[in-house]
Amino acid sequence: MYDVDLTSAISEIKRLKARIIALQVPEGMKKRAYQIAEDIESKAGVEVLVVAEPCFGACDVPSSLFDIVDAIVNVGHSPIPSLRFSKPLIFVPARSNVPLGDQLKKSVGLIQEPVGVLATSQHLMDLDDVIEGLENMGIKTRIGEGDSRISHAGEVLGCNFTSATSIAKEVNSYLLIGSGTFHALGVHLATGKKVVILDPNLEEPREIDQAKDKILRQRHAVIEKAERARTFGIIVGEKLGQRRMRRAKELRKLLRWKKKDAALILMDKFDPEKLRSLGFDAYVSTACPRIAIDDVAVYDKPLLTPQELEIVLGVRKWENYSFDQMTEDEL
Ligand code: SF4
Repeated sequence: MYDVDLTSAISEIKRLKARIIALQVPEGMKKRAYQIAEDIESKAGVEVLVVAEPCFGACDVPSSLFDIVDAIVNVGHSPIPSLRFSKPLIFVPARSNVPLGDQLKKSVGLIQEPVGVLATSQHLMDLDDVIEGLENMGIKTRIGEGDSRISHAGEVLGCNFTSATSIAKEVNSYLLIGSGTFHALGVHLATGKKVVILDPNLEEPREIDQAKDKILRQRHAVIEKAERARTFGIIVGEKLGQRRMRRAKELRKLLRWKKKDAALILMDKFDPEKLRSLGFDAYVSTACPRIAIDDVAVYDKPLLTPQELEIVLGVRKWENYSFDQMTEDEL
């Protein structure tokens, strides 16, 4: 389903004179990692280590890799320009080869123009075709610039919707190319506008109402449970692109002001067993905002986002619920 062109990565590996590199591949493409590694080894003359740990974004680089390899090849994500790593990261786009024309025609009845066009990292290369297709059908479009965590106009990350919020006043709805509902719901909560998804894995464009109700019900239940907590662990992500120490300290200050016990915890890979053994009544994650939402079912202790903690402590209203974002001024 995805085309991977290694040409420029191979030139870059040769230019760097790298001897050993790490290869990070998203979960959905892991079975192709062996093939990609073989291609790189034979064409660039370099040793390749396939990283088994899941990779959910350009920020998701295990710190240990920097001591082991000369460079890291990351497939299927785009760079986060504001991040500086100690070894070169080489990004290889994975282009979806599923045509979106039929879905695009069907989406016209669902969107209101002007429409903001967005894509997740894996579908950035479809943006121009979708905009052209909409304009050929007489639909007015807009594309927004994000902050310095965003490498491409129109791109949304699970932790950053600034390409959408930057044009919120100019559009009446959004069309988002991507799979799943997380990004679309994040854009909807950040802007209050309707979001329609063009998902290459499906045949019909999708609205988010059902997923929104389900996720908000889950989050409400987690918040209610956390309201009974007395002790809170505030988790700081160990990965460079998810390390929000300042935000974590602000939350600790807020908790102590509200007479709750709070401690900072450093964590790389999240695991319910680690939280169980630490023994706090509830946790707040300042690392990747997706973890608390996507993995809600695996945690028996409440795992909150910073905005959800604010609701628990009465400094934000449930009506102002939004997904957590990592913006340029935080990292
Ligand atoms: S923090 Fe999470 S959502 Fe943001 S880029 Fe990293 S993996 Fe993706």
